[in-house]
Amino acid sequence: MQRDKLLMTPGPTMIPHRVRETMARQMIHHRTKEFEHYFEKMNEGLKKVFQTQNPVLTLVSSGTCGMEAAVVNAFSPGDKVLVASTGVFGDRFVKIASRFGLDVQVISVPWGHGVDPREIEDFLNGPKGEGVKGVFVTHNETSTGVANDLEGIGRLLNDRDCLFIVDAISSMGGMEVKTDEWGIDIVVAGSQKAFMLPPGLAFVSVSDKAWAAIEKSRLPKFYYDFLAYRKSLAEKTTPYTTAVSLVIAASEAIEMMLEEGLDNIYARHRNLAEACRAAVKAIGLQLFADEKHASDLITAIKGPEGIDIEKVRKTMNLQYDIMIAGGQQHLKGKIIRIGHMGYVDGFDLIRTLIALELSLSQEGFPIEPGTAVSAALKVLKM
Ligand SMILES: *Cc1c(COP(=O)(O)O)cnc(C)c1O
Repeated sequence: MQRDKLLMTPGPTMIPHRVRETMARQMIHHRTKEFEHYFEKMNEGLKKVFQTQNPVLTLVSSGTCGMEAAVVNAFSPGDKVLVASTGVFGDRFVKIASRFGLDVQVISVPWGHGVDPREIEDFLNGPKGEGVKGVFVTHNETSTGVANDLEGIGRLLNDRDCLFIVDAISSMGGMEVKTDEWGIDIVVAGSQKAFMLPPGLAFVSVSDKAWAAIEKSRLPKFYYDFLAYRKSLAEKTTPYTTAVSLVIAASEAIEMMLEEGLDNIYARHRNLAEACRAAVKAIGLQLFADEKHASDLITAIKGPEGIDIEKVRKTMNLQYDIMIAGGQQHLKGKIIRIGHMGYVDGFDLIRTLIALELSLSQEGFPIEPGTAVSAALKVLKM
């Protein structure tokens, strides 16, 4: 039987029927009242999801371009910035900012751990902290399954003359981000993670403090010049042809999110994460991330000794039609990552856990099928 693959990956993720249906419609022109309606609806919804009064710009790109755009819009060559890196995506900020000639300072947190806000504070108060113009943090470090404490970091950055820039690409819409209350100046989100949308859009909120820096920035940019997006946004449009179908889809997906209620969405994700961790521990596997900083949206699991974990992943995909992610970079072949973000519920997790149990068992891992599922069921609020 041909089944749709169940994507339990950290993006792309599954798309609800209601959202897919909008993308099958005939094209409309982007300079029309009809388009304006969807665009405004999306923008108003984005402000609610981001918990901000700031404009949220929509770029036709994947998340990484939003990260690059944050760098080129807010800084100038030689500016000193600090990246608190907790994995692959923190390192990506280091690469981007270095490529554009910034003076990049790095706090490298061991993978699997979250950054302690005090480490950032100590750095800024130390000899190398002088003149730091921006601090970059990944909210949900998708490569390791760690969520960083944005509130704590925001608190210590509040009265400093430095921008707080957050990659919330895989968290926004699944874990709470209080953009204004936590004092975050630039937040980057992506459509294909918790937003229940296909890849293709990045959403970026920009604070007044960041706009002041943007007006002074001397790095070259054209297509992703935030000033052009701000000007168009005020006129309820985009500077260039946008991804019309994705904007319409986003207006629908965000409507669904608001119908469910943001607090309910956060609770659903937290519950899925708790159930997933309980299930994994019940079958004798180890979590990769420090549980104090465990993400609500992705669970990273160490491959057990003597088991080819990539083969387990392949069986889950080819035999049971469930895709999960492997490890990135030096974690390839060492961990697996189960994404539980966006359009996903307890039944999806149960199906994934059964497939994981069966696939592990086929590789010779001693397991009583049903153990993970029953541990999960004790925790899941179905
Ligand atoms: C997925 C992801 C990105 C990269 O996004 P792309 O859309 O693949 O460019 C960046 N940061 C985090 C935390 C992510 O999860």
